[in-house]
Amino acid sequence: MFLFLGVRAMKEHRYAGLRRSILGSMILVPLVPFILILGIGYYYFTTSIQTSTIASMKRIVGDHRQMIESFLTERKANLEYILYSYSFDELAEPQKLYDIFCQLQKESNAFLDLGLFNEEGIHVNYQGPYKLAGRDYGKEDWFKEVMKEGHYISDIFLGYRRIPHFVIATKREEAGRKWIIRATIDTYMFNDLVKKVRIGRTGEAYILNKDGVFQTERRSGGNLMEIDPEKVRYPSSQSGIINFIHKDERGETYCYTTTWLKDKDWLLVVRQEKADAFKAFRSAAYLIILISLIGGGVIIGLAFYMTDRIIRRMKRIDIEKEQLGDQLIRASRLAEIGEMATGIAHEINNPLQIMNSEHGLIEVLLSDLKEHGDLKESEDLKELEDSIDQIKIQIGRCSKITHAVLKFGRQSDVVSTDIDLGGFIPEVIGLVENKASVEGITVKQDISEDTPLIQGDPGQLQQVLINLFNNAIDAIVERHGSEGGELVIASHIGEDGKVEISVKDNGGGISPDNLKKVFQPFFTTKPVGKGTGLGLSVCYGIIDHMGGIMEVSSQKGVGTTFFIRLPVAT
Ligand code: ADP
Repeated sequence: MFLFLGVRAMKEHRYAGLRRSILGSMILVPLVPFILILGIGYYYFTTSIQTSTIASMKRIVGDHRQMIESFLTERKANLEYILYSYSFDELAEPQKLYDIFCQLQKESNAFLDLGLFNEEGIHVNYQGPYKLAGRDYGKEDWFKEVMKEGHYISDIFLGYRRIPHFVIATKREEAGRKWIIRATIDTYMFNDLVKKVRIGRTGEAYILNKDGVFQTERRSGGNLMEIDPEKVRYPSSQSGIINFIHKDERGETYCYTTTWLKDKDWLLVVRQEKADAFKAFRSAAYLIILISLIGGGVIIGLAFYMTDRIIRRMKRIDIEKEQLGDQLIRASRLAEIGEMATGIAHEINNPLQIMNSEHGLIEVLLSDLKEHGDLKESEDLKELEDSIDQIKIQIGRCSKITHAVLKFGRQSDVVSTDIDLGGFIPEVIGLVENKASVEGITVKQDISEDTPLIQGDPGQLQQVLINLFNNAIDAIVERHGSEGGELVIASHIGEDGKVEISVKDNGGGISPDNLKKVFQPFFTTKPVGKGTGLGLSVCYGIIDHMGGIMEVSSQKGVGTTFFIRLPVAT
């Protein structure tokens, strides 16, 4: 018992180990490439999202830079056109300047005013909403700059009028005389030009001067002329479009794209909250997580399912192997017993022959004695004669048994001979009759006289019939116990010209499901150690080899009939 338990525990341990390693490899083998592919896919996907987001921000900055620069260049060109189209005296004439200003406003309504300055910085003539004519700008920075450089675009400043504005000024020099015209640009219109930029939910654009002062308003907070509260390290000298990430004072991370405007020391900034800019990035991450969870789940689920199937199959194969081993042991033991039985039958046969001839002698002597009147008729003599007859009958029975055993034992090589079922079937029944009667089973024979000879190996046919009888006895005993049942063996010539042998019992019958499997090797409903499930499959093979067919019909709770159809001997 302990040994049995030990072996079982060892087997379970082995299965558990196998299960672990199969499961491990079934999960790891597909999971590792799956994760790798997913990782690489994620990397390339997110990199391309990042690259395309940055590229789109750079494109927006580039487009706006061009737009602002052409705006400023065009306004400067408008002024230069006026400066070189009219003389100082013409421009100094109020009506003329008024006409020119009206013309200028038709060109662009961004111009708010127009003024003429002499080389001392005196505002000689002015057209616009303020009274600025006659004022002295000689000490103003912008004036000094334009006198030196020839043209000037200011930052946003308050000036005399105390409202934010910026100016464009340009100088003409002729015959030792210098004069300047200057125009104020509508800050709000310029502001709108930049402020209107919208990217996603949080994307915005604004312009800063060199000192980080807002030249246009920032939507998320930042008024004109205020200092940018973010301490962003804007690239001061780099030309081109720069992209970087920076956290603002509130801890919000932004993606910045900046560029210096060519004609001005202004920095165009486009920024967007990182989370907003890389929204697709987050969706990709969620998608990857979802795919990983579903994919991983499917792989793990499948691995468990497949491992269970493999282990179950291995267990079944092991059991079948064990059963086959048991069957082999039993078969070799049976072969030994068979050999022993044949030897014994042979040994018994000789004394039986002697007993038979002695019996014949006794009979001859007895009839001689009676003839010569040496023995008188009496009760005792009658009893003696009966006993001698009984000895003959018993010798006959014994020799029948020894002959059957010897015949069975000799069947190692397959032979093919004519078999007369009329004598053969009763002989085989004789081998199980005793067993059947012990179980209270009535065995009936219905061998039709017209049953023709068949051809085959008597030993093998005997094996088939004994197997069918034993199965029938088992089924009857299982259903009726000691009350007994009925086993009917019949044979006749069928309508198809084949010899039909039927073995019918009133046992428990076979369920329709099992009926399909009875001829399959190893199918058994009997407890371990009793049935091997090989009997019917072997029988099927033997009958098939003899050129016949074997069929079964059964009804649960009623009984079973096995049919063997064999060709008539030629
Ligand atoms: P075993 O007898 O070793 O189980 P067999 O191949 O001879 O193997 O039979 C297979 C199965 O067919 C039996 O286990 C039983 O369930 C069923 N069977 C065979 N003959 C009968 C019968 N006469 N009545 C009911 N069931 C039967």
